[in-house]
Amino acid sequence: MKIFVVNAGSSSLKYQLIDMENEQVLCKGLCERIGVSGVISHKAADGRTYNAETAMPTHSEAFEAVVYALTKSDAKVIDSFDEVTAIGHRAVQGGSDFTDSCLITDEVIGKMVEWSDLAPLHNPANILGIEACIKTFGKEIPQVAVFDTSFHQTMEPKAYMYALPYEYYEKYKIRKYGFHGTSHRFVGTRATELVGKKDSKIITCHLGNGCSITAIKDGKCVDTTMGLTPLDGFMMGTRTGTLDPSAVTFIGEKENLSLKDLDRIMNKESGVLGISGVSNDNRDVQAAADAGNERAQLAIEMQRYQIIKFIGSYIAAMNGVDAIVFTGGIGENDGALRKAVCESLTFTGLKLDDAKNGIRGEEIKISTDDSAVEVYIIPTNEELAIARDTLAIISK
Ligand code: AMP
Repeated sequence: MKIFVVNAGSSSLKYQLIDMENEQVLCKGLCERIGVSGVISHKAADGRTYNAETAMPTHSEAFEAVVYALTKSDAKVIDSFDEVTAIGHRAVQGGSDFTDSCLITDEVIGKMVEWSDLAPLHNPANILGIEACIKTFGKEIPQVAVFDTSFHQTMEPKAYMYALPYEYYEKYKIRKYGFHGTSHRFVGTRATELVGKKDSKIITCHLGNGCSITAIKDGKCVDTTMGLTPLDGFMMGTRTGTLDPSAVTFIGEKENLSLKDLDRIMNKESGVLGISGVSNDNRDVQAAADAGNERAQLAIEMQRYQIIKFIGSYIAAMNGVDAIVFTGGIGENDGALRKAVCESLTFTGLKLDDAKNGIRGEEIKISTDDSAVEVYIIPTNEELAIARDTLAIISK
């Protein structure tokens, strides 16, 4: 059985075709510049590639290009799209309406439209992808939405409410929702298996260009760092993370900035980029720091310190921790960051195995056997999580 996984952005479309017999990726690809021009880069598992420029005025033409790549190009992997059993879509904001992944219906699309207010960059793009898919492949093929927010719906009100006047929660549903839920669930579920204990307390650190940390007790999210939007938490590639909101109103007044300007500054010009002035990419910033750039050094120090503080607060929130998981581009690859974070957690009895911490690119336990807290690198795989959910839902 083959599942087609789609992650639609406003001008891009990422996809994978996964054979669920062995969970192997048959091919993956990316359409870019949708609405502008159109380019597809497609790669089959055996290394064959297909790259082409082709007009993509909308996502529908992008899907047609994908079908060509999958079924007719030199890097084809199937004879016909009829071989695909179902389609799984990454969806961002499902709010309190979606506690789980679900089969896409007109009603589901309607709810996603309602939640677009809170995710204006993501939900409309996801909906474009879904509607184009329905147009291209028809209504017969089941389509499933897997929301970034669903996993975090088990948080209690004391964790998700903001101490703003209550009316804003009632009027606009202003609260913490959390994101990266598909990744936290994927690595958290795996860590729960590895720890092999009931009522396990796990902290998952998804550290990539976007970053978030989640506290998972007995398989359920109890708290997470991202909030109403992915801006909250700790500093990321270009996002501020938590800060005193008065700093924002102060800057706005001094510099005569609009709310839109402030939103752009906090989301796109801050974080590791804003502090270092070098890049939003940790590798570039680390290289600059190593070469003596003090702002780059500060960015690296701030990022690590903020991660340590959130892990510490989640240990307190759960009254303990059995395992800490690192995932995402930084979490999976940056051994120096993992070491710095773990060195601040030795009060828990955590002991890092330095040799294992040097290994990259595979699932591995990097704590010593006598460590009181297990530490893992678990590569995330959101596409596989989406494919598994899709299979589970269509099999019901
Ligand atoms: P992601 O968003 O998960 O793709 O992660 C992107 C981030 O991972 C960027 O900040 C990269 O600099 C970082 N990253 C990728 N490889 C490494 C590495 N070997 N060492 C440190 N950071 C890395």
